[in-house]
Amino acid sequence: MAKFIFVTGGVTSSLGKGIIAASLAKLLQSRGLKVTIQKFDPYLNVDPGTLNPYEHGECYVTDDGAETDLDLGHYERFLNTATSQANNVTTGRIYQTVINKEREGEYLGKTVQVVPHITDEIKRRMLLLGETGKYDIIITELGGTVGDIESLPFVEAVRQLQWEMPEEDCLVLHLTLIPYLKAAKELKTKPTQHSVRMLSQEGVRPDVIVCRTEHPLSEEIKRKIALFCNVKPNAVIEAIDAGTIYEVPLKMLQEGLDVIVLKKLQINGYSAPELSKWRGFLDKLNYPKSRIKIGLIGKYIELQDAYKSILEAFIHAGAVNQCKVQIINIHSEYITEENVDSKLSELDGLLVAPGFGARGVEGKILAVKYARENKMPFFGICLGMQMAVIEFARNVLGLTNAHSTEMDPGTPHPVIALMEEQKKIKKKGGTMRLGAYPCTILDGSIANKIYESTEISERHRHRWEFNNNYLNDFEKAGMIPSGKNPQSGLVEIMELSNHPFFIGVQYHPELKSTVENPHPIFVNFVQAAKWYADSKAGALSKEMEKQAIS
Ligand code: GLN
Repeated sequence: MAKFIFVTGGVTSSLGKGIIAASLAKLLQSRGLKVTIQKFDPYLNVDPGTLNPYEHGECYVTDDGAETDLDLGHYERFLNTATSQANNVTTGRIYQTVINKEREGEYLGKTVQVVPHITDEIKRRMLLLGETGKYDIIITELGGTVGDIESLPFVEAVRQLQWEMPEEDCLVLHLTLIPYLKAAKELKTKPTQHSVRMLSQEGVRPDVIVCRTEHPLSEEIKRKIALFCNVKPNAVIEAIDAGTIYEVPLKMLQEGLDVIVLKKLQINGYSAPELSKWRGFLDKLNYPKSRIKIGLIGKYIELQDAYKSILEAFIHAGAVNQCKVQIINIHSEYITEENVDSKLSELDGLLVAPGFGARGVEGKILAVKYARENKMPFFGICLGMQMAVIEFARNVLGLTNAHSTEMDPGTPHPVIALMEEQKKIKKKGGTMRLGAYPCTILDGSIANKIYESTEISERHRHRWEFNNNYLNDFEKAGMIPSGKNPQSGLVEIMELSNHPFFIGVQYHPELKSTVENPHPIFVNFVQAAKWYADSKAGALSKEMEKQAIS
C-alpha cells in the first residue's frame, strides 16, 4: 500500500514547492523507497499545452504525450524516473471528466456539485498512482497558494483524505515564507502563522512546516513557529536559499526532513541515504575547470522559465564536462544582418530554441547562417532545426524564399510543411505530434557518435516537419538526415557533413536530461563549444574537425 504526502504552499507563490517536493522525493528514493510526484494545478485549462510560455513557462512533455507543468521536469531531473499523463491534473481536466460523466447519465437524478462530485474526482485521481502498486510513496504537489479561491476544492480533497486515511499513511507538508525585514533586522513569522491558520480553517492540519528564508532560523524562531502552527519543533524545517536547486536535497537531509517524514509515516527498514552520484555531480558543478558562452537564441528570453529544461540540461552537461556554461540570452527578434556578427562573435556555441509562429524567425535564420559559415558549434531544437533547414535551403540550395508553411503558407519552397495527419486537425488542444517516438540513426553520423547507438527514443511536440520531397537536394549538398522515424520516414535529425558540430533535432532532447543521465547531445555540444573556445583565434583546426565528437 502506498503512503501519501501532500505539499501545499502559503504566503506567496514561487516559493519552489516543486523543488521541495522533488528534493524530499530524492531523499526518500535515496533510502531505497519507490517514489513518484504528481502535480494538481488549479487552473481551468485541461492542460498547459495551449498556454503561452509568458503565462506559464515551458510546457513539459512526458513519454506518453502529456503536455504538463514544468515542475514535472524537476521531478524527472531529480528522480531520474519518467512521469506520465497521470502525474499532472488540472481543474479543467477534473471538471471535464465530471461533466462528461454527467452527460453519460452517471449521476442520473442527482444534482452535480463541487462537493462531493468534484472533490471525489480529485480524490480518485490523487489516489490513482497509488493503485498501480509501483510506488511506496506518492507525493502530491498542490499548485497555487492556500487561500486562493481556485485551490479550495483541492484543499478540501486533501482534508477528506487526511480524515479518511490512517494517521501513518498521510502527511501534509506546508511550504511557507519567513520574510526578513531589513530595517528591523528580523525574520518575521506572522505571515506563516496566518497561512497555517488559513489552512487549518479549511480543515487541513500540516505535519511539517518548511520555511523558505534568506537567513538561518534560530532555535527560538523555530520554536515560535512550532508553537503557533501546532507542530513539533523538529517538524519546522529551514529551507535557506541555495546556490543551485540541486543543493536543496542535501540541505533538506541536513535538516532531517526525510527522517521526520519516515517517522510520521511509520516506515521502517529504510537504508542510509545513497547520494554518491548526486554529490559527485555537485562537486563537478561547483568546481568547473573551464568556461564557455552559449548563445540561446529565442523569442521568450525575458522569461527564463520558458526554456527551463534547456537551461537545466546545460547545467547537467556542464557538470559532466566540468565546465561552467554561461548562457547568453539573445532575442531573435532583434538580430539583423547588420548586428548579427557583433552579437554572436563572442560566443562559443549557438542553440536555436523551439517556438511557434513567425515572430523572431528571421533572426533565428541569420543566427544559423552565422554558425554554419563560421563553423561555430550549432544545436537546433525543434523550431531551431526547422530554421536550420530553411537557412540551408535559401543560402546553400539557392531556393529563394524557402520557408515553413507555418510562417508563410504561400512559400514557393515549403521545405518545412505540415504533417499529413495534421492537415485535418482543427482543434488545438493536445493535437500536436506529442510524446516519445523511435528514431533510427545513420551509422557513422555525428548523431551516431553522440548517442553511441542507432536506435533511440525522444519526445516530440510539433506539427510541422521536414518536407521529404526536398531530401535528395539536401543530402547532395551536405545536409544529412541522420535520424529518421523507422515507420513514417519523418526526418528527426539533420546534420552538416562539412562542419565540426552542426546538429538540428525535430524532437526535444532537453526533456530527457537528468542529473544522473545528462543528455548526450548537450554533453557533446558543450564539449564542442569548449574546443571551439580553445581554438577561437582562427577557424577550427583540422585536428578538431576530426575529434569534434569522438
Ligand atoms: N512550430 C513548430 C512546429 O509546430 C515547432 C514547434 C516547437 O519548436 N516545439 O512544428
